[in-house]
Amino acid sequence: MPQVDGVNKKMGKIMSELNLAEPEALPFLPFALPDIGEEEIAEVVECLRSGWVTTGPKTRQFEQEFGAYLGGGVETVSVNSATAGLHLALEALGIGPGDEVIVPTMTFTATAEVVRYLGAQPVLVDVDARTLNIAPSAIEAAITPRTKAVIPVHYAGLACDMDAILALAARHSLRVIEDAAHAFPAVCNGRLVGTLASDATVFSFYANKTMTTGEGGMVVTRDPALAARVRLMRIHGIKQDAFARYTSKTPAWFYEVVAAGFKYNLTDIAAAIGVQQLRKIDRFLLRRKELAHGYAEALKDLPLQLPADAAPGSGHAWHLYMVRLTAGARLGRDELIGRLAAAGIGTSVHFIPLHRHPYWRDSCALSAHQFPEAEASFAAMLTLPLYTRMTDADQQRVIAAMHAALS
Ligand SMILES: *Cc1c(COP(=O)(O)O)cnc(C)c1O
Repeated sequence: MPQVDGVNKKMGKIMSELNLAEPEALPFLPFALPDIGEEEIAEVVECLRSGWVTTGPKTRQFEQEFGAYLGGGVETVSVNSATAGLHLALEALGIGPGDEVIVPTMTFTATAEVVRYLGAQPVLVDVDARTLNIAPSAIEAAITPRTKAVIPVHYAGLACDMDAILALAARHSLRVIEDAAHAFPAVCNGRLVGTLASDATVFSFYANKTMTTGEGGMVVTRDPALAARVRLMRIHGIKQDAFARYTSKTPAWFYEVVAAGFKYNLTDIAAAIGVQQLRKIDRFLLRRKELAHGYAEALKDLPLQLPADAAPGSGHAWHLYMVRLTAGARLGRDELIGRLAAAGIGTSVHFIPLHRHPYWRDSCALSAHQFPEAEASFAAMLTLPLYTRMTDADQQRVIAAMHAALS
């Protein structure tokens, strides 16, 4: 993760400058850490011993079990990243040159770059000040005759207002691809994200997400034709994947290329990790909730805007715990990050809005005043450590450092 690397590098510099790397110093507390146990290790070893390391039986099992977790009735196609999954979903929907796709500015660059892969134009819009999710009113205002799709991002794991988004998408004949990289498992009005009426939902299993396969992702859809196209294009436009090829009745050497596809398949080694992570996901979520509620309780008297929780009937995945400094705070965001780093606590910023990055700013001719909510939030935001292996004592360190800096 670029964020992790950046913070670790900065940390190292700060630690050496302040001479904090003494043996008695508390260990550095990262802002995210994967939770890999003996079960994942054993499953990977079994996969390696089986002799089948690329896409095969373990990948199938992972896809089936992921679909079953979502309640069945959906197609699940694993890929080697959410970025690949977003690309394939847009490709399957026929997005191409001349098309516009609406994307929130408060996201990771992957959400917008996949639109570019297809020669289409990402149209960045501002977000809702409370949730940092894409604002339905901003989508509506950005629609032109060229608009083909919208990619809502469930920021930090809190579902977007999907009822409003799906209704306006239906009114304007727009496709909806959910970027659910943060949102496994999240509930939107009584239904798990992944089972809503959008065209496709894409989850990420990157190292710092709510569950991981090292690198990986899953495209989920109710549309069998879309699933078939994604399956085809994830592996070179070859009609059958390697596993089917080696077990079907047709000769093993035979295959047909029917499109110029990509190389986006998940390996069985990665899927083996995913199978075991999935079995722990309810426990992971419970721990994330405990930690989020612990922060909410302990930080409520500080000059901070705490993250919005899900409405009744919905559920937050708590991928990130992002707080914003309020006007009364005696420190700025950067200074607070420095204080926490000096106390051995890693933080990050989610996200530097896309319109602030040179590539997006210049290629889309964007300026900051078009995104007042994202700008205000960016100036004040930081993400505190939140991961399942974090102990209560770890969290107390963060809370104490926040109080020392801000009260
Ligand atoms: C992590 C992330 C992605 C990309 O996921 P990968 O699996 O690393 O490709 C996309 N969108 C958002 C919002 C993310 O945070």
